Amino acid sequence: MSKKYDLVIVGGGPGGYVAALHAAKNGQKVALIEADHLGGTCLNRGCIPSKTLLRHTEIIESIQEAKEWGIETGELRLSLDKMRKRKDDVINKLRSGIAFLMKQDKVDVFNGLGIIESSNAVKVVGQDSEELLEAGKIIIATGSTPVVPPIPGLDSVSFETSDSIFDIKEIPESIAIIGGGVIGVEFATIFASLNSRVTIIEMADRLAPLEDVEASKLLEKTLKKKGIKILTSTKVERFEKAGEKVATVCTDKKGKEVVVESSTLIVSVGRKPNLSATSKLNLEMAGPFIKVNNKMETSIPNVYAVGDVVGGFQLAHVASAEGIVAANNASGELDKIDYHVVPRCIYTLPEIASVGLSEADAKAKGLNVRTEKFDHAGNGKSLAAGDTTGFTKIVYDEKLGEIIGVTMVGQHVTEMISEASAFMYLEGTVEEAAKMIHPHPSVVESFYEAAQNIVHKLKKEKKLVR
Ligand code: FAD
Repeated sequence: MSKKYDLVIVGGGPGGYVAALHAAKNGQKVALIEADHLGGTCLNRGCIPSKTLLRHTEIIESIQEAKEWGIETGELRLSLDKMRKRKDDVINKLRSGIAFLMKQDKVDVFNGLGIIESSNAVKVVGQDSEELLEAGKIIIATGSTPVVPPIPGLDSVSFETSDSIFDIKEIPESIAIIGGGVIGVEFATIFASLNSRVTIIEMADRLAPLEDVEASKLLEKTLKKKGIKILTSTKVERFEKAGEKVATVCTDKKGKEVVVESSTLIVSVGRKPNLSATSKLNLEMAGPFIKVNNKMETSIPNVYAVGDVVGGFQLAHVASAEGIVAANNASGELDKIDYHVVPRCIYTLPEIASVGLSEADAKAKGLNVRTEKFDHAGNGKSLAAGDTTGFTKIVYDEKLGEIIGVTMVGQHVTEMISEASAFMYLEGTVEEAAKMIHPHPSVVESFYEAAQNIVHKLKKEKKLVR
């Protein structure tokens, strides 16, 4: 007899496992099916391993900088084995944490490939067994996988993606990274600190093209200072073998051929939905992704989808937020997703963090906005830390002073963005941000200073009468 559940979730990443815990706390009997490891891409080959390695980068850069400050160590020696082991230890600790939470909330975890047979049945295909689960409701949380573009020659050379690069055994002498988006620039930062010669090849005219233009420019300038070669407006035409190396043949913006030879090639040009569970369902799609409404319902009643498989932001915290909405709706509580305030972080050194609309996006939407930028060179904590690269920029509504968006570049900004997000979530104004007492010295005073500058300007223009 098949086992019966109120809710069966396919995929144990941040979308699926958070949904499972939430639904269980709502009193549902829940099964979670995971084909690989709990924690999904984020924990096993995404957010967590990259941030663990970026912490090594931070330490390496600090040691190098400390020399200038009269703090000397011996020769810097790097062990990739030990760094990889620390990364694996962090992953294992978090994996067992999730398994513990599943047990605590009585979620049944099945290890195997989940195949959705119908809107109320899911088959689990294990290594040597198959089992059919009866499902009142289903959540699809199968995530995404790296896109491997059909560029000539790619199938005849060896290359890495974000799925494989974390487990390489030797520090590469040189790396070409195809794609200067969030994932590409984080890898560039990691490997440059390990003394690999890094080249980023990006088709758009700037790195991190979805972020504020000034943030992109500052990132590019700082990465260049670290010795990273950056080729923007450059299109990869083909790959060729060059002895032990790979030759990436490109065309630059003037139509000139550029060849980049590297011992390692990383392809990071985006992610595509993992549809391994859904081939038997006739789901309505939105481009390559599963189409959902704001309750995370798919076109098939009682079947929900969340996370990377539905596209959109493709961020772990968004997958989890969508998971909670789907879990609530599947438990009979009406809930809707709200994408109004979604912080986005890039963990390069300097970090970039943003929330809400950039100046360009706000103007494109016809909003009457102005911006104020505070440079971290004028921030005491940044000076004391010896790291003044960065700024805080507020986009605000000219009439009401409401904060529409914030972009921050610099140290600690991925932590600081939550304050700006809270202001936006509560529809806070620049006047309120300027009034709230901030700790001194702190880098986040830059947000406070920018808000104060806006208030002074608006008062001077008699737009703000107090
Ligand atoms: P996933 O995490 O991909 O999980 C899906 C799970 O479903 C997987 O474990 C998979 O094995 C399982 N699965 C798939 N098909 C089946 C099936 N048929 N049966 C059973 N199981 C199945 N996001 C951030 O917010 N911050 C970051 O710093 C960040 N850094 C990143 C760095 C890298 C290098 C990468 C690649 C991604 C990063 N991301 C980051 C993105 C983040 O990892 C994803 O947005 C997030 O993991 C999506 O969660 P998900 O639950 O939708 O899918």
